[in-house]
Amino acid sequence: MKKITFLKILLLFFIPISLLSIDFTEEEKEFISNNKNIKVALMPDFSPFSFIEDNKIIGFEQDLLSLLSQKSGLNFVNNYGVWNKILYKFKTKQVDMIASISYKEEREPYTLYTKPYYEIPIMIFVRDTFGEYKNLDSLKGKKVGILKDVFYYKELKEMNSMNLVVYETYEEITQALVFGKIDALIQNLPNINYLIKKNLYTNLKLAGELKLPDIKKEDLRFGIREDKPILHSIIQKSLNAIQKYEWDVLIDRWIDVKYNLGHKKYTSLTINESKYLKEKKDITMCIDPDLMPYEGFDKNGNYTGISADYYKLFEDMLSIKFIPIKTNSWSQTLQFAKEKKCDIVSLIMETPQRREYLNFTTPYLTIPLVLTTKLDKPFINNFKDLAGKKVGITKGYAYVELFKKEYPNINIIEVNNVKDGLEKVNKDELYAYLGTLVTVGYNLQQDYIGKLKISGTMSEDIKLGIGVRNDDPKLLNILQKSVNSITSEQHRGIINKWLSIKYEKKPDYSLFWKTLLIAIIFISFFGYWNRKISKTNKLLKEAKKEIEQKNMELQRLAITDKLTDIYNRARLDELLDREIERSKRFNHTFGIIFFDIDYFKKVNDTFGHQAGDDVLVEITTKIGELIRKTDIIGRWGGEEFLIICPETQKEAVEIIAENIRKHIEEHKFPKISNLTISLGVTVYTPEDSVTTIVKRVDDALYEAKKGGRNRVVFN
Ligand code: GH3
Ligand code: MG
Ligand code: MG
Repeated sequence: MKKITFLKILLLFFIPISLLSIDFTEEEKEFISNNKNIKVALMPDFSPFSFIEDNKIIGFEQDLLSLLSQKSGLNFVNNYGVWNKILYKFKTKQVDMIASISYKEEREPYTLYTKPYYEIPIMIFVRDTFGEYKNLDSLKGKKVGILKDVFYYKELKEMNSMNLVVYETYEEITQALVFGKIDALIQNLPNINYLIKKNLYTNLKLAGELKLPDIKKEDLRFGIREDKPILHSIIQKSLNAIQKYEWDVLIDRWIDVKYNLGHKKYTSLTINESKYLKEKKDITMCIDPDLMPYEGFDKNGNYTGISADYYKLFEDMLSIKFIPIKTNSWSQTLQFAKEKKCDIVSLIMETPQRREYLNFTTPYLTIPLVLTTKLDKPFINNFKDLAGKKVGITKGYAYVELFKKEYPNINIIEVNNVKDGLEKVNKDELYAYLGTLVTVGYNLQQDYIGKLKISGTMSEDIKLGIGVRNDDPKLLNILQKSVNSITSEQHRGIINKWLSIKYEKKPDYSLFWKTLLIAIIFISFFGYWNRKISKTNKLLKEAKKEIEQKNMELQRLAITDKLTDIYNRARLDELLDREIERSKRFNHTFGIIFFDIDYFKKVNDTFGHQAGDDVLVEITTKIGELIRKTDIIGRWGGEEFLIICPETQKEAVEIIAENIRKHIEEHKFPKISNLTISLGVTVYTPEDSVTTIVKRVDDALYEAKKGGRNRVVFN
């Protein structure tokens, strides 16, 4: 007993003022002290009343329960389940109370009802493009969808002003509106809201509430176990004690009066938060000066880019100003953030290291990462293929840490910025540069078309949110609310704006980059939007296909000799290597022919360099006709050529070589008339490497020259 009194005294110190104003009976007070935890059953999918988002259960009822907890001193323990399950739990007394129950006579035996805490309105939904809705007159002559046998059918029918279209299911009616078969639909708010969210319909909005004299709304109440009348009276008294402004906050937060499909709900700031913002006035912000088109400073030093557009939205939402602080580089931005020279970092990835000085909102933007290499490098399917290679990453970027951890065998070199990274790849100081697709793409096409290519993507995109100085948790909460409240319409607006940007320097590639941009930016946006991923994936695939085609063309150019349009030395090396591998593996053999034009200097000296060039082209064309489809000819350098003859023995290669020699000797070249070539021939032996086989055939050629030219020598 003594304990209980002590507890009561203790309680008196801690219970809020509001609780004191409730006139609880002794019995009720006793109940509260003895039954701290009350089990309440809720639905996890009853938006906006009780639903799961980001693994958290939130909603009107959740907030209402916190209020009740404040008022009564009770603690509510949640149980979630679909309606039938929780109703069963309630009936069988596994929980003390249930939320969102409507009055029904047959539930009386096991339910003590509170008065309704909400009556679900019937709403008019339209598409974004509907224009202004004033009242039911705005629906005159329009096609309006309603559900079959709905209780307000008769009244709407008698108004005789709109063109009613009847549907069987919620899904059908919502789809009909989404796809323009009807102009509006009339249904209760949570149902349609739920479908809109589930199916990610983004072109609908609420127009207004249907208010007709005889229409009764669906009532939402708490139900309490019939054997707990004291609990029932405590809950009802606590509900009664909720002030009007508190109800207003709840409604405004979850069932927004502006009919914004609930998006606006999160921006409602608490009184404390509004006060904080008023006192704070401006928020200083560090950005990445080098991440266009995501963000940067324009020629006049103004903050611009995709993130800038988001901050314009945030400024409107919060009625404050964000002041960008100039930094020279991303590293300096991070330094400033550490030193708390700015309140927030506009667009940043969360990492453990940065958590030491910043808090993070959830991401509002994602950016795909790509690897860029020289054209002649193979495509990178797996980052493990980069073991031991030098890969450049811009200094200070979060993915430096991630990448190092993930791929410890790769030699990560930090560079100053994208340009620096690409230049180093171009100069062979780096094997590859890892950067964001859009920034890399932007720079590639300005300076490196025909030199560098995108040769791999990283499966993990980087996800970016707002970084907030970690000594200011209030600001974090406020900005999180702003991030949550970005609507898909607003995302779309920003997308559309940045889509119309043209990268015009190279007109032939601009379409390609534009397509890419569409896909990337499309896929980059968070919220409901990016879960529409299958559709977007298709776009991305098309863009990817286009990249691959372009890259293939670039790759073809990289392995082809410009003058003769046959393979170049680099490619011959690769092919020889491949042929040796294959022969080793399958115990096959192949032959090679190496030839050099006799006295070619004379051709140049007598007829000019152009005539010499013409001869080179003509010889390769001629020989192309003589060799088999499977044989490969390439230019080794100058006027020396190499032919690889797969699956060919000594005698056969000699015959091919002799045939070529004879045909060239007999060929009439315009201007210069006749010329000859000397040929070395050899076949693969199991000990061979590229070096040894080339050395042998080169020796054979030397012998052919020494032996008087215009001949074939085997070695
Ligand atoms: P040899 O019979 O000993 O091979 O005599 P050569 O005169 O052919 O001697 P060499 O192979 O040393 O000289 C090759 C010449 O080919 C030198 C260079 O001017 C010429 N040459 C190399 N590449 C080209 C080219 O792309 N176009 C033209 N027109 N000439 C080239
Ligand atoms: Mg030569
Ligand atoms: Mg020569």
